[in-house]
Amino acid sequence: MVAQKDCIFCRIANGEIPVRKIYEDEDAIAFLDIHPANLGHTLIITKMHYEDIISCDEITARRIMGVVKRVCEKVRKELKTDSMHILENIGEFSGRHVAHLHFHVIPRYPGDDVKFEYPGKKMAENDIDRMQSLMKLD
Ligand code: 5GP
Ligand code: ZN
Repeated sequence: MVAQKDCIFCRIANGEIPVRKIYEDEDAIAFLDIHPANLGHTLIITKMHYEDIISCDEITARRIMGVVKRVCEKVRKELKTDSMHILENIGEFSGRHVAHLHFHVIPRYPGDDVKFEYPGKKMAENDIDRMQSLMKLD
């Protein structure tokens, strides 16, 4: 998709807004988040404007995940932690702020104040059966 005029990540991809870049290739850029949850919090974005991982083609999805993997490897090697999150917020109820495909890699450190928690719920067996059949990939 062509660059969207009001999209901040399109502007970053076009070099209009400076960022702390750590990687760039034909399809992707990785840079430090301006409001990091922890030191080393990195965003990996596509250069093309796609709203999210669902909206892009499979080759682009594989390529971006390759960069995500390399960022995670770098966190483990250089930031000396084995703990981190990979996160993409999709859709308006996910907490997403920027509707341009991006993954967060958020390093975790002992005793930090970052929280990704949800209550594990007890579901009815028939609902779980229904989910399993609904969610089967074609
Ligand atoms: P979302 O909530 O959409 O998953 O995440 C958007 C992220 O982009 C936020 O963590 C926010 O701090 C980051 N962000 C927004 N604008 C900029 C910017 O201009 N530069 C950088 N480096 N990060 C940004
Ligand atoms: Zn964009």
